[in-house]
Amino acid sequence: PYQGISYDKAREVRQTKLNPGMFVYYKKPVMIHQGHMQYLWDVDGKRYLDLFAGIVTVSVGHCHPKTLKAADDQMKKLWHTTNIYLHPAVHQYAEELTAKLPEHLSVVYFVNSGSEANDMALHMARLYSGCYEVVGLRNAYHGVSPYVIGLTAHSTWRYNMPAGFGIHQAMNADPYRGVWGGKHCRDSPVQTNRSCSCAEGACEAVDRYIHELEEVMRYTMPKGRIGAFFAESIQGVGGTVQFPKGYLKKAFDLVHSKGGVCVSDEVQTGFGRLGSHYWGFETHGVKPDIVTMAKGMGNGIPLAAVVTTPEIGKVMAEALHFNTFGGNPVSCAVGSSVLKIIDEEGLQENCAVVGTHFLEGLAKLRDQYDIVGDVRGKGLMIGIEMVTDQASRTPLPADKMATIWEDTKEMGILIGKGGFYGNVFRIKPPMCVTKADADFALGVLNQVFEKHRDIGKQ
Ligand code: PMP
Repeated sequence: PYQGISYDKAREVRQTKLNPGMFVYYKKPVMIHQGHMQYLWDVDGKRYLDLFAGIVTVSVGHCHPKTLKAADDQMKKLWHTTNIYLHPAVHQYAEELTAKLPEHLSVVYFVNSGSEANDMALHMARLYSGCYEVVGLRNAYHGVSPYVIGLTAHSTWRYNMPAGFGIHQAMNADPYRGVWGGKHCRDSPVQTNRSCSCAEGACEAVDRYIHELEEVMRYTMPKGRIGAFFAESIQGVGGTVQFPKGYLKKAFDLVHSKGGVCVSDEVQTGFGRLGSHYWGFETHGVKPDIVTMAKGMGNGIPLAAVVTTPEIGKVMAEALHFNTFGGNPVSCAVGSSVLKIIDEEGLQENCAVVGTHFLEGLAKLRDQYDIVGDVRGKGLMIGIEMVTDQASRTPLPADKMATIWEDTKEMGILIGKGGFYGNVFRIKPPMCVTKADADFALGVLNQVFEKHRDIGKQ
């Protein structure tokens, strides 16, 4: 049985001694103290099916025995060198990681978090392109360090401070809430928009959003040049927003034609989670110049990276660059084991199979309940957008979301919440979840949605 700090004491410390700007999930937060694969246990021994993986971070499973062994073996040998000497783990891992990427992406910088990775990507893109001006998308999340906070285009995360000089936002190509949304297709096994008639590569909304991106560049950038363009392959924090088919490809082509560098933020979408491909950018058929990754890369241990081309790496070599913990032996050993487990245990394939099964089940719930506005995603990156009713698409208010959310927790599943209006439930579990887990979760959601089917009208 659990014998650590008491629940009440932990809540008191949380309220008085920990970052007061940090949210905690649920009215009566759960105090988790153990995890195994896709399950978590609270201090009272109650088991939960973890469908949010510590915000899309636990990739192969909580305390996966093979990652545990990799960390343990490395810890017994060597913890740290700050990369001033050669050590096997970082070199082996860099070799294995780049083998998973297209050939042109061959130079790795190891860092410790997603924000740090995007900081670095922004820095190198500006240096290489010789242009300070960059564009991101509204509703994006790329981290909260002072350097990249401007790329995180959500007022939720903004302080009354300058949010990154030289950073501009283009309209978000959001098929559900965007001004030109709702009429076109997404690259998803579940075609949520059944009236879509766009031919491949001929989506009218895509052309409008691209035109707007072009205008942002034309009106704000010196000589129409651009330094960099940043995009997540599917927006995570923003509520699992998928761009309409062909958008990202056209955006990258436009940016490249103006001398800019394209950055794919794979912090949530990388490492096979989307099922059909190892990297999210591959699902869009684009060729990024820089890829940033974190979260699932280390299955929960701090590990992140920026991978780029030798040409960009050369510009970065004009000054020394150094990171004390980036590429430390323990994180790299865990990173290597994660890559191996994804392959050995067929986790990318599992994401495709279980994810599609999940999405199909959720699409049925959407057809059954008027409060489920949209079901979307790819593989095990899933969003359920809740509304007062499908016709108006009005976001379900926070208190009503909380009521539903609380019930799902009581019934044993932990799901996430996000989206600009906080009305999107997010399902992004450890990649080892099974169809049986998905069926259990679908059963819970069915019961909870049934109980609250009229909540949008109240
Ligand atoms: N990029 C994306 C797409 C993210 O989702 C996040 C974290 N939510 C980050 C960057 C920042 O990562 P970190 O919290 O490790 O700084």
